[in-house]
This record gives sequence, C-alpha cells and structure tokens, in this order.
Amino acid sequence: MRVGLDVGGTKTDAVAVDDAGTIRGRIRIPTGWGPDAVARTVIDAVAALATEASVDLGAVGSVGVGIPGQIEPGTGRVVHAVNLGVEELDLAAAVGPELGVPVHVENDVKAAALGAHALHARSGGVPGSMAYLNLGTGIAAGIVSDGVLWRGARGTAGEVGHISVDPNGPLCRCGQRGCIEAFAGGGAIAERWARRSALPVRDVFDAADAGDASARQLRAGLARGVAAAVRVLVLTADVDIVVLGGGVTALGERLMTDVAAELSASAEASPFMRSLRLTERIELLPPGSPAAALGAALVGAEGDATHDTEEALVHG
Ligand SMILES: [Zn+2]
Repeated sequence: MRVGLDVGGTKTDAVAVDDAGTIRGRIRIPTGWGPDAVARTVIDAVAALATEASVDLGAVGSVGVGIPGQIEPGTGRVVHAVNLGVEELDLAAAVGPELGVPVHVENDVKAAALGAHALHARSGGVPGSMAYLNLGTGIAAGIVSDGVLWRGARGTAGEVGHISVDPNGPLCRCGQRGCIEAFAGGGAIAERWARRSALPVRDVFDAADAGDASARQLRAGLARGVAAAVRVLVLTADVDIVVLGGGVTALGERLMTDVAAELSASAEASPFMRSLRLTERIELLPPGSPAAALGAALVGAEGDATHDTEEALVHG
C-alpha cells in the first residue's frame, strides 16, 4: 500500500492506493499555513486515513507528497511554496521520522500528471505520452512519457506558463512580457479584471457573455494562452493527449469550447497545424478527480530499482 497526498493552498487530499493501483481510502483535511503547520498537515492526513478511512497504516510502504512549490531534484526539499507560506522546507526530513516510511516529495503539477496518466491507463486508453496542463492561479504542465515523469535536467520541464507568446503583452510576475500565464493564469486574470469576486474567472466569462468589452478581451486572452500551451506541448514533446485540470477548468465546457475554437482557427490557417488534430487531443480532468493525490502515491514507484536503492540509502 502507498499513501499519496496533494497538499493544496486550502485543503489536503489524501489517498491510500494498493499494489494494483486501486484507491482504498480517501480523506480531506484543511492545510496549515507555514512550514511547521504544513509538516503537521502531512502527518495528520496520514493519521486521518487510518481513523476516517480505516486504512491499515502498518501496510503502508511509502508516503508521496505533491506540493505547490519547486522541489530540489533528488531531495525532499521544497522551496518557494508561496501559497503555503513556505520559503524552504525539507519535508521528507520533517515528517519521515514520525511516519517511519520513505517519503517522496514532488511538485504538485508533476504528481497530478502521473496520476492523470494512471487514471487514463486504467480507463482503457493507454497513451504512450501525455501532458497534464494545470490551469490554476498560475500555469504549468507535467509530461509523462512511457509512464515516467519527465522532469528535465533541473526540474523545469513543462513550465510552459512562462513562454512568452507576445513581446508586447501584459507584464508577467516572472518579469517577462506576454507569458502564457500572463494571459491565461487565474491570478493574472483576476488582477486585470480588478473587480471583487469569489470566482473572478467565472465572473469574466459571465460579463463577456453579457457583452462587456474588457471581459471579452480577457476571455479571449485566456483561450489564446491555453491554446498556445497545448501547441507548445504537442510541438515539443508530441504528447498523444493534453489533459486540462486545475481550478480554472471548473468552467468546464465553456472553457473547452473557447480553447477548441482557438485551436480550430489556427488549424484553418495552416495545413501543418491541421495535421496535428489538436482539438481531438485535448481532454478535461473530471472535477474532484483524485489525480494529484494518486500521482503523489506513485512518485518513486515509477522509477526503477536504482531509484528505490537511492531512496533506501537516503532514508537509511
Ligand atoms: Zn512569466
């Protein structure tokens, strides 16, 4: 049995997965703020799987944690998890001794990519390669090829949100202009919309439907940004499918229709783009999907025996 956690800005989703990859228990608890509280959340979530979902913790061989921050490659150390109030935290060292099993830490989007791939494989379709494109406050993707996460040399593979698609576009928080994230990131859209709302992106869609010119512009920028990310992922990694997930995808078909229209427009203009059949290669992750927590449970399991040996050495 493996445990996987998706530590989100407000809630932490935890699953226990058996050796066949079936989810045997799932719970959710609120996420604490700051390094100590985040470490406590991880320990509490594992404990809650036992008390609330009757998971036998004695059968758990590892705990994987997906967390919204940068992970130093090959370590359990997370940096710049700003949504959690964490500047730097060696999560594996902080929770490993109390949990008593190896702890793997992975960026949450990369973990979700692994989980989305596993769910897809189980539902019959076995994509050789897949990209998971997370549309949240920011934009990033995880790429899975032959069941293995592609991290790149320094863990930057899939950071498509900061590819500039317009040198005269809006300023991005990274300092560049016209990044995909500056057009399509939920945070950037909320900032530019500048009206108070619990769901700013939905608000933008509603206002655009009602004819508001600035909302229409923002909505068009969102579709353009997502379509650009899809093109980049297919043209660089030639993934079979791009699965869209994250908070902004709560808009469902309203979002997908816009993105498909944008992809169709570029296909109309270009026989080459048409040959890629991009509109047939995008999919939506169902709401409430356990992909991120499931993927976190699989982190480490995707590797080979060498990886396991390394883990054993690291954790003694
Ligand atoms: Zn940027």
